[in-house]
Amino acid sequence: MIRQKSFENEMPTLYLVPTPIGNLNEFSPRAVDVLKSVDVIACEDTRTSGQLLKHFDIHSRLICCQNFNEENSAKGIVELLERGQKVALISDAGYPLINDPGQKVVMMAVEHGFNVVPVSGPNAMLDALVASGLTAQPFIFIGFLPSSENERRKKLNEYKNYPMTMVFYEAPHRIHKCLASMLDVFGDRKCCLARELTKVHEEFIRGTISEILEVCDDLKGEMVVVVEGHTVEFQPDADYSLIMNMINESMANGMTKSEAIKDVASRTGIARNTIYALVHGTSRC
Ligand code: SAM
Repeated sequence: MIRQKSFENEMPTLYLVPTPIGNLNEFSPRAVDVLKSVDVIACEDTRTSGQLLKHFDIHSRLICCQNFNEENSAKGIVELLERGQKVALISDAGYPLINDPGQKVVMMAVEHGFNVVPVSGPNAMLDALVASGLTAQPFIFIGFLPSSENERRKKLNEYKNYPMTMVFYEAPHRIHKCLASMLDVFGDRKCCLARELTKVHEEFIRGTISEILEVCDDLKGEMVVVVEGHTVEFQPDADYSLIMNMINESMANGMTKSEAIKDVASRTGIARNTIYALVHGTSRC
């Protein structure tokens, strides 16, 4: 488990900075300050982001991070962080990671123990999700669970087999009971508790449900719990229709067959060539 007290340590930081989806007046003063303060800004398209930076008189160095080069970009960004540089990640518009590059960058930065700090005030769920270090997409936002133990467990049982990352809101006086119910119903999944987002005592605790349960009694403030979805333990025959449904769903959402295979592989953790074989009928008698 890693506890990141965002403003109380000396580790280099990767800032996740959502940019306006339309109206430039909606960019926050803090976002501008952060982009001015970092050494490097990783963006999708240097021409598009160059215009944003020009508008706000920001002169930090721009580098490119796109889906096709994200693995290499992530390595490059981790090297910059290792050299003590401050890095911000932006996309053409909106949140990085939300249908935009950034997932690998965040995962690698978290794995290497660097701070990952979201810079956006209006919504706790998205800030927690993109900086959690868990798969940001697909996700489901659930919000508060019922306070009655029976009702809470009933709800959690409904969500138990959801393959997508789940985002919950919780109050500090109920966090212990909430995590204990999750541990019982979901098992010991990866989890991130994000609290006091964007405030002085902002903290991300990234670990498993049981690890976070051990430290949660002392936690104060507003909190979001991000929990890994159900990972499929793959049994080719039993899960054939499940996989095919996921492939068909991805294709109905506009993906090509090979994009759908890649997508389902990343959502389920099943090897891409195994799914390829299933889809093309070479692995079943
Ligand atoms: N409308 C708000 C939003 O967009 O995030 C949520 C309002 S809800 C009534 C309040 C809950 O949101 C809190 O109990 C907490 O779970 C979460 N929350 C709000 N601000 C937060 C923050 N700064 N850090 C972590 N969680 C926060």
